[in-house]
Amino acid sequence: MNSQINDLLFRLLDETPNAFGVFDSNNQLLYCNANMASVFGLSRQQAKGLTHRELMRNAYSSGLGVRIDSEDFEQWINDVESRQRLDPVRTFESGLMNGEWLKITQVTIDNHLVLIGTNITELKDTEARLRAALEELSDVANTDVLTNAANRRHFFNRAGEELARAQRYQHPLCLMLLDIDYFKQVNDLFGHHAGDQVLQFFARFYENGLRKIDFFARLGGEEFVVLLPETQLHDAMTLANRLRKQLALQSIYTMPEEQKIQITVSTGVSQFEGSGDSVQTLLSRADEALYRAKAHGRNCCEAAAPWPAAG
Ligand code: GH3
Ligand code: MG
Ligand code: MG
Repeated sequence: MNSQINDLLFRLLDETPNAFGVFDSNNQLLYCNANMASVFGLSRQQAKGLTHRELMRNAYSSGLGVRIDSEDFEQWINDVESRQRLDPVRTFESGLMNGEWLKITQVTIDNHLVLIGTNITELKDTEARLRAALEELSDVANTDVLTNAANRRHFFNRAGEELARAQRYQHPLCLMLLDIDYFKQVNDLFGHHAGDQVLQFFARFYENGLRKIDFFARLGGEEFVVLLPETQLHDAMTLANRLRKQLALQSIYTMPEEQKIQITVSTGVSQFEGSGDSVQTLLSRADEALYRAKAHGRNCCEAAAPWPAAG
């Protein structure tokens, strides 16, 4: 009866799609099925009697079976084996050289180490596809469709992070609020489609003129915003004026009509003043400065009064 069950169990282990192996107290392989042998890049016959270290070394030098991402095999295997029997049960994921993935469970019973490997390739593929889809979804949710710039929602998320960083490390941070002058006239004179192209040009122009660490976004309509980390008000004003003057020199040619359009921008710049200041207060001070820029005749930059705003 017992031997019949033993036979059955061995046949089951031979035929299961899982990998199965047993090592003795010296880490010598007592039994494995064909799937486990292939984890070491070997046949069952070749694997039998070898130690865990020898099996792993074979996989490493043959480039078959389990993927071992290390320059120094001896150090790597010492590390792996030192952790091997610490807990009665351990589970981890292992990649194979052929691109498949196994979830390995190690069980220590009576000084024997039992390894069970389940193929989780499909699960890993699904996980990767899901992650890519989520990234794409997040890109779509954060991007303005017309200009491809970051949108309002992305700006508020990012601004919160930048403010927290500036606060934590006591670093300077400025905000630039941009509003295209007389944009309604662009639409009225050249048409809405031309207006759209002007907005696209404007976004490209500013993004190209900024540093990698700056963050440019379309707040809505013809209103844009830039976060300038590590920047003092004086430098933010210099930058704002440089870009403003350059913009005024640009000619925008629309397609397909090839109309030539020139625009100017008004800018309000505010500086993060430390605790108590928020994205909202930073924005409203920039807005107040922008209002003054418009009142001064447009095509100019104004700096916000320090917070709390006087008056
Ligand atoms: P100001 O100098 O005071 O800023 O004048 P303005 O004409 O730029 O300001 P106003 O707010 O009166 O007009 C903004 C215009 O922007 C009105 C609106 O139709 C236009 N607009 C907003 N979003 C879009 C868009 O996506 N495409 C186009 N073509 N026009 C847009
Ligand atoms: Mg506006
Ligand atoms: Mg405007």
